[in-house]
Amino acid sequence: MDETVSKPYGLIDLHLHLDGSLSPSIARRLAELGSRPLELDEKALLSRLQVSPACRDLNEYLACFDFPIQLLQTPLQVSEAVFLLQEELRSRGLLYAELRFAPQLFTRSGMSQEEVVEAALEGLSRSDFHAQVVLCAMRGESNMDQNEETFRIAARHLSDGVCGVDLAGAEALWPTSNYAGLFSLARKLGLPFTIHAGEASGPVSVLDALNMGAVRIGHGVRSVEDPALVERLAAAGVTLEICPTSNINTRVYGSYDLCPVMRLHDAGVKVCLASDNMAVSGTDVRREHALVGRALGMDERDHLALDLAAAEAAFVSPDDRRTLAARVREAYAAAALDAPAPSLEG
Ligand SMILES: [Zn+2]
Repeated sequence: MDETVSKPYGLIDLHLHLDGSLSPSIARRLAELGSRPLELDEKALLSRLQVSPACRDLNEYLACFDFPIQLLQTPLQVSEAVFLLQEELRSRGLLYAELRFAPQLFTRSGMSQEEVVEAALEGLSRSDFHAQVVLCAMRGESNMDQNEETFRIAARHLSDGVCGVDLAGAEALWPTSNYAGLFSLARKLGLPFTIHAGEASGPVSVLDALNMGAVRIGHGVRSVEDPALVERLAAAGVTLEICPTSNINTRVYGSYDLCPVMRLHDAGVKVCLASDNMAVSGTDVRREHALVGRALGMDERDHLALDLAAAEAAFVSPDDRRTLAARVREAYAAAALDAPAPSLEG
């Protein structure tokens, strides 16, 4: 294991897709619940759950979701996936996470979106790991009614485990500006929201998301291409949920040292790191901190700033936000005490 992963960096994951985060063991369990046990050996299963190194862009990356989505089509599967993912996050040492999914993708065997969300909330309640769910609308053709339904369901469950909404899918094919009406509904319903933007498309997509009132942006890394936008993001206090491995998978960047996490941070933009998809990208938020930290030469203060930015941007009450930030600080302080004393020799 990378040495840095053993440090308490990456305690909060605000951008984590449920369907993209099914480990081989979770996938096997869900297949059993669907009465279709998987015949694949471990290597073959992993290759169905994880993106190929030959992936060329976001559209190909998104094709990796077809298989896990098939495993999330009954209430039992959705509930169990949410529960098992929380247990996984706890075992990896996280303090808090927001799991996101698009209910409309799990309705192929007859579940309604409402039933999908109820099943997810049932799974959420079975674990005492601190997590909530974000419901995603999907970019696409002729699904605006389903997207609006997703937001109305989110509003009904806002106090019992749903904490916000999002827009996901192929950004280069369906531009963010198409969804201005949808996010005006989100504002009317009082829903906190984040929007995937500035990943496959450039700064204009982030600007559209900002103008629609997003308080967080999924990825947003291509904002660096427009200095005026960077200034606006800093002034607005919007948080970018940056997922470096995912950006490398989709060829936004060729390597971790090119990821503009610290450039944006140093320009005054609030940034945090996230996994995006633990299985598809073969990562978690701890590993994202380790990889980016090493590539960019980040010190403990930098890691702490990013973890605190995540705590401050979480879709929780102001009291819970303060508690989360205090727990992050405690974990860093405890790790500093555990570290061996520097040698006095030489
Ligand atoms: Zn995402």
